[in-house]
Amino acid sequence: MSKIVELSEMLANQIAAGEVVERPASVVKELVENAIDAGSTQIDIYLEEAGLRKIQIIDNGEGIEAEDVLNAFKRHATSKIHTRDDLFRIRTLGFRGEALPSIASVSELTLETSTGEAVGSYVKLSGGSVVEHKPHSLRKGTKITVENLFFNTPARLKYVKTLQTELSNVGDIVNRLALSHPDIAFRLIHDGNKMLSTTGNGEIKQAIAGIYGVETAKKMVALEQDDLDFKVSGFVSLPELTRAGRHYLSLIINGRYIRNFSLNKAIVEGYGSKLMVGRYPIAVIQIDMDPLLVDVNVHPTKQEVRLSKEKELMALITASIQEALGDKQLIPKVDPAE
Ligand code: ADP
Ligand code: MG
Repeated sequence: MSKIVELSEMLANQIAAGEVVERPASVVKELVENAIDAGSTQIDIYLEEAGLRKIQIIDNGEGIEAEDVLNAFKRHATSKIHTRDDLFRIRTLGFRGEALPSIASVSELTLETSTGEAVGSYVKLSGGSVVEHKPHSLRKGTKITVENLFFNTPARLKYVKTLQTELSNVGDIVNRLALSHPDIAFRLIHDGNKMLSTTGNGEIKQAIAGIYGVETAKKMVALEQDDLDFKVSGFVSLPELTRAGRHYLSLIINGRYIRNFSLNKAIVEGYGSKLMVGRYPIAVIQIDMDPLLVDVNVHPTKQEVRLSKEKELMALITASIQEALGDKQLIPKVDPAE
């Protein structure tokens, strides 16, 4: 008998879940990204017990056709890319076709969806197996409910931190998704309390006000510059408004929130001697560029990217901040809001 056998689909999904579904915040990230890719203009996120008991995401996007609903839970099944060429021109947040099967394999998941034309669908899975599937009437959009996350993976459940930590991680992810998409109205509600809401009117400054508060938004200045390859726009805080860590630096490339050490450095560089040592600004920087110049296929969560012209982009970011700040000098004052 041969010793090497292919893993069952279920086991493969659980293994993939180890990479993409680390904690409630990763589930929220994947599901909200799907809602964004579906062209939603309103996304509501409801959590119970920091998402460990329940995460529910309701969107008004394009929905999934009845014949596709079960495919959405197949591994490596996606509507977003079809060819190798597509892989190098990614405009959507998703493309790996891994999130839904992974999340479903470690939770009890219910999907309700409708394209608004034909009758919609309802499907319920437990630990990755379909337990119910039927037609369902619903307005256009998708509602996904993830309950009892990690109920069947005790080791992962143990790894989860306190509710407070998990909740702050979810908040952080939703903040960044909302900052990346000022054209979408987001609402985050935890155990009945509203934690965040943005208007979705398309203005980054409005999104900043919804997330960091109106007073913070008032102390941010606009920047905008482009060259042949990149367009950089967004808002950065006046030198008097700083934070103790890099946590408030948000970089968005073609609508995708990313982490990048060099670009963070370029932001700080733009302030020159205006920042006190160990202090960092608040910044929301949107970068638009040809998708060919950025490889997002580096890590399953897609927060790390490889940039082909990183030095050029760094210089452009630094210059755009220098220009936006002009001769605005440091007024040495520690922000009381901290
Ligand atoms: P990916 O996003 O990489 O394509 P997922 O596993 O996250 O993979 O989702 C699988 C497919 O299910 C998507 O390609 C999309 O067609 C569909 N889908 C998932 N969530 C939604 C949603 N909220 N609205 C519409 N379609 C969705
Ligand atoms: Mg996805």
